Amino acid sequence: MKKNNSSSRFDDSIRRIAKLGHYTKPEKVQGAIKLDSNENFALDRDFVAGIAAEAARQVDLREYPLDQLDELYSQLAKYAGVSVKCVAAGSGSDQIIELLLSTLGSRRATVFSPTFSYFINRCELHGIKVDKVPLDQDFTLDKKEFVRSARKSDLIYICSPNNPTGNQIGRQEAIDIIDSLEDKLVLVDEAYVDFADYSLSTYATKRDNIIVLRTLSKAFGLAGARVGYMVANEKFVRTFRSTIQSPYPISTLSLAIASSVLARADHIRQTVNAVRNERGRVLAKLAKVDSIKVFPSDANFLFIEAGKNYQRISKVLKSSGVVVKELGSIAGHRGCMRVTIGTREMNDKFLQCIEEGSLQ
Ligand code: PMP
Repeated sequence: MKKNNSSSRFDDSIRRIAKLGHYTKPEKVQGAIKLDSNENFALDRDFVAGIAAEAARQVDLREYPLDQLDELYSQLAKYAGVSVKCVAAGSGSDQIIELLLSTLGSRRATVFSPTFSYFINRCELHGIKVDKVPLDQDFTLDKKEFVRSARKSDLIYICSPNNPTGNQIGRQEAIDIIDSLEDKLVLVDEAYVDFADYSLSTYATKRDNIIVLRTLSKAFGLAGARVGYMVANEKFVRTFRSTIQSPYPISTLSLAIASSVLARADHIRQTVNAVRNERGRVLAKLAKVDSIKVFPSDANFLFIEAGKNYQRISKVLKSSGVVVKELGSIAGHRGCMRVTIGTREMNDKFLQCIEEGSLQ
């Protein structure tokens, strides 16, 4: 069949896109102890299920969601401690990232490395060149090197606490970086900030060049509901809401569930504290295992270098039905994995596998 010009352009695009790296979704393992995607299992399943059932009874899915998004904005603003005019939401922060990359016309981004791979993949999809500045061996950032690279970019991505390393970059350090890059757009991804000690949300509302991304997928236990949000200055948020975002970005059901969970933010704070305590306990236990190295974390997961025990630990984890995120060799460290902090029971099972896999 003879090809016309437009179909061959289409073929070229598909060929180019097919070659790009992409985010690989984790596999569903039935009955597994799921510690690979940083969800919040310290939040009781029945608590969330009860809220979802209640929401399903209340909503009228025949109607488009009209005022429910405004209700959500008020609650998110209260939770984040900012004005309601500085908040906008999307179907997960993944969607917000996608919208920003596809509309703001960025051509070159600077990230530190390793970081959230989805962001890098999406930049590449949109033809945005990505410069990666390696983190130091202990995952601290060489501020000077980062700023030097960032000056050549128009978009800066700072994931803090960082996925997969778990550490938050210092508040003042982040502010110094952002202040020295006033003419660049800085995206600060705070997906795990609820488990950390500080947020740049308030700061973002007073600047023209920073957008903070947050989510209800982690601390709020709503990964399945797909609700993410941003905090930025009023002017940008107005444009985002009116022109960038689609009119009905979040389903009525997810809006009702999110509102209901946010109304119980105190309960969420309690489970977050429980996760933080567990994080300390698991970290202390892992630190005693000679043959592995564990890194401090401000998130709800830990980064572990298992070195020569990697294969053995991995085998024990698999045969015990414990799923973690296996990273292999990364950032100059050998045999790495990222493990979510789950319930005490889940964590104990994980610790038992580490003990078994690290023998001798
Ligand atoms: N940012 C980071 C750093 C993440 O780890 C994740 C979750 N994988 C996201 C954003 C996406 O979160 P959401 O579920 O809101 O799309």
